[in-house]
Amino acid sequence: MNETETSLRLDVLAIAAHPDDIEQTCGGTLLRMAQAGYRTAALDLTAGDMGTRGTPEKRIEESEIAARRLQLAWRGNLGLPDARLENTLAVRLSVAARIRELRPHVVILPYWQGRHPDHYRTSEIGYEACFLAGLLKLDASTKPHRPHKVLYSSVYANVTPSFVVDISAQFEERMAALLSYRSQYEEADEGDVLFPGEQEIRDRLGAVARFYGNLIGARYGEPFVARETMRVDDIVALGGRSL
Ligand SMILES: [Zn+2]
Repeated sequence: MNETETSLRLDVLAIAAHPDDIEQTCGGTLLRMAQAGYRTAALDLTAGDMGTRGTPEKRIEESEIAARRLQLAWRGNLGLPDARLENTLAVRLSVAARIRELRPHVVILPYWQGRHPDHYRTSEIGYEACFLAGLLKLDASTKPHRPHKVLYSSVYANVTPSFVVDISAQFEERMAALLSYRSQYEEADEGDVLFPGEQEIRDRLGAVARFYGNLIGARYGEPFVARETMRVDDIVALGGRSL
C-alpha cells in the first residue's frame, strides 16, 4: 500500500469524506471482495482536521491500520478541508486524476443525501470526477478511464437499497477496523461531552448491520443503491428468498 503507487487497475475503489467512513458503511463489502481475490482501495477526501479528538496525522495513521484489516491494496487521503468540503473544479480534477491512475472497475460513493454536508458533497464530487476521468482531452499525459459501475453506500440514508451484500463473515473484522481509530472510539469523558464507548459503537453498528442483513436473510448486511436498473442474466441464480 503506497500513496505513490499508480496504475493499480483496481476492481473496487471506495471514495469517502472522512477516514473511518468506509469502515462504517462499506468496509465489510470491501473486505469480502478482497477475500474473493479482487483488488480494492479507498480514497478519503479529508483527514478529519475538524474532529474534536485526535489529529489529522493520527487519523491517517489509524486509517492505515484499518486498511490492512480490510485488506485494501491501496489507501490514499487528499487532505482536503474537513467539515467545509467544497465541490470545486480543482477538487473534481484531483479526484479524477486519482481515478485515471487507479482505474477502478467499480466505484463506491456515499449516498447523495445525508445529514453531513461532507458526505453528500463527496457523493457529488465522486460522481462528477468519474465522469471527468473518462474525457480524453482532460489531461494529455494520462489515459482516460470511466468506471463501469458507480454504487452508493446507503447505510445512513433511510432509503430502500437496490441490493444488500451479506457481510456476516466480515462483520467482526470490519468492527476491528473501525476500532483501529482509537483516537475516535476510545471511551472518554471530555468536559461535558461523553464520547460513546466501544460497546455502544458495537451495539449501534451491529443493530444497523443486522437490520440490513435481515432484509436478505443473512445475519449482517451492507446496503447499496444503484441509480440505474440492475441487469440480471440468470434469474435462477438470484439470491434472497421471496417467501
Ligand atoms: Zn464521515
